[in-house]
Amino acid sequence: MTTLAMVIPCYNEEEVLPETTSRLASLLADLHQRGKVADGYRVYYVDDGSKDATWRIIGEQARTHDFVCGIKLSRNRGHQNALLAGLMTAQADVVISVDADLQDDLAAIEQMLDAYQGGCDIVFGVRKARKTDSVFKRFTAEAYYRLLALMGVEIVFNHADYRLMSRRAIEALRQYGEANLFLRGIIPQLGFTTGTVYYDRAERFAGESKYPLSKMLALALQGITSFSVVPLRIITTMGLLISAISFGIGLWAVWVRIYTDEAIPGWASTVLPMYFLGGIQLLSLGVIGEYLGKIYMEAKARPRYFIAEVFDRSGKPKD
Ligand code: UDP
Ligand code: MG
Repeated sequence: MTTLAMVIPCYNEEEVLPETTSRLASLLADLHQRGKVADGYRVYYVDDGSKDATWRIIGEQARTHDFVCGIKLSRNRGHQNALLAGLMTAQADVVISVDADLQDDLAAIEQMLDAYQGGCDIVFGVRKARKTDSVFKRFTAEAYYRLLALMGVEIVFNHADYRLMSRRAIEALRQYGEANLFLRGIIPQLGFTTGTVYYDRAERFAGESKYPLSKMLALALQGITSFSVVPLRIITTMGLLISAISFGIGLWAVWVRIYTDEAIPGWASTVLPMYFLGGIQLLSLGVIGEYLGKIYMEAKARPRYFIAEVFDRSGKPKD
């Protein structure tokens, strides 16, 4: 039988944790009873440096519920790193990651397990519709997925971080050492047999989104610059194009000079290209800088997180 671990990153989630645990308790007990998961299933809450009572609540729950385990990061490292810490720590045949806020329908877990039994190593949870997201979020998210696809980043449309991974897939993921982590882009690159499960996305159960626009933008940029060199190519193409055009203009100027009397050294022909090329150069430098920054961060190869404390089974700290 399959041993199951769930990984749930939590950042200031005191309001939702009790409900999350009680829902998972009944769901997992039911799955266990019906023989879908083996004894000893666990839920790893990864406290991503929360400033509220999240870690205290996790500790209490670890004492009262056998299946609750906790991992406390030394500080806030962001959703992707918290997720990774959980995935790398959990010991089980399959690991399912999901957000703490119960927006993703937990009923999909059973379908994921079935797909795993059917031979899938990775099962992506995909949102059917985005009815509950704001128009702004829906629009930007969908446009973003299209943009990524256009830039050649392999990504599963409308899939966030709700997914099942087999032990094999997790061990493969462990070998990726990059500091700029965008799991949604890396995991499709692992290969293996993959499956998809569709679910409806609900409203956040309680509390506010822990992903403000700035964090969302950072993640979006990460997704592009970690996986695609297309922006660099666009610059090269633009450079070539503009050089060709200016060559043409040069020929035209010579033609005007030789065959007409209208060759007045114009203001426009001097000033406009200055601004135009200046702009293009700044833009290009910016994009190159973006990649250079990436290399800088990767070259340092800094650790991505530190675990400060672990609760495993019955709330006793693991040795
Ligand atoms: N999260 C985290 N660290 C952060 C921000 C968010 O671990 O710095 C967690 C958060 O607790 C939640 C998940 O990431 O479990 C997704 O966040 P949220 O639901 O706020 O994002 P949204 O659904 O609004 O995109
Ligand atoms: Mg959410």
